Amino acid sequence: MIIILFGAPGVGKGTQAQILARNLGIAHLSTGDAFRTAIANKTEIGLLAQSYVDAGDLVPDSVTAKIVQEAMAASDFQNGCILDGFPRTQQQAAALDEILAAAHKHIHKVVNLEVDNETIVSRLMARGRQDDTKEIIQNRLNVYQQETAPLVEHYLHRGLLTNVNGIGTVEEVSNRILKAVQTA
Ligand code: AMP
Repeated sequence: MIIILFGAPGVGKGTQAQILARNLGIAHLSTGDAFRTAIANKTEIGLLAQSYVDAGDLVPDSVTAKIVQEAMAASDFQNGCILDGFPRTQQQAAALDEILAAAHKHIHKVVNLEVDNETIVSRLMARGRQDDTKEIIQNRLNVYQQETAPLVEHYLHRGLLTNVNGIGTVEEVSNRILKAVQTA
């Protein structure tokens, strides 16, 4: 089962993707985590990605496709996975369709977590990751609006998108997501 957890930076995708993956017994792929690991290990992909991640810009699609393909080839992804932070552009959405078609898999659901901008900024400032400074947060939100938000329409047209309110306790939100995923 392939599920996309969608939403702006700071809506809680990472936390919720982990919980959902545990509940459904499937893998979790966060491209952000994968890039941070690659950067820490100074791999070729890490070196290519570093300046973009530091600035809060999107890593080029060609590099992102590589990290996704590598991760999805791993055996624990055969039963499906929760995609967290991918796709983020139209081109990535098309690349995902190709990867899935080749593996005879399809997207089960796209869960769009909705949180207002004010809450997002205060959540990210509290998290304090290296790319969580005020300036970089603003850039990531702008990039999200320009590059990623149009995918909401894309998946809505395909009948795959469900909006979920991302405000509440972690448990409240995870229960809403589980319900959304289990609804046909
Ligand atoms: P995240 O952990 O999802 O907030 O991602 C952190 C950073 O990793 C982003 O600001 C981007 O620089 C990079 N990144 C993560 N996922 C993608 C993606 N699908 N496409 C391009 N860049 C990405």
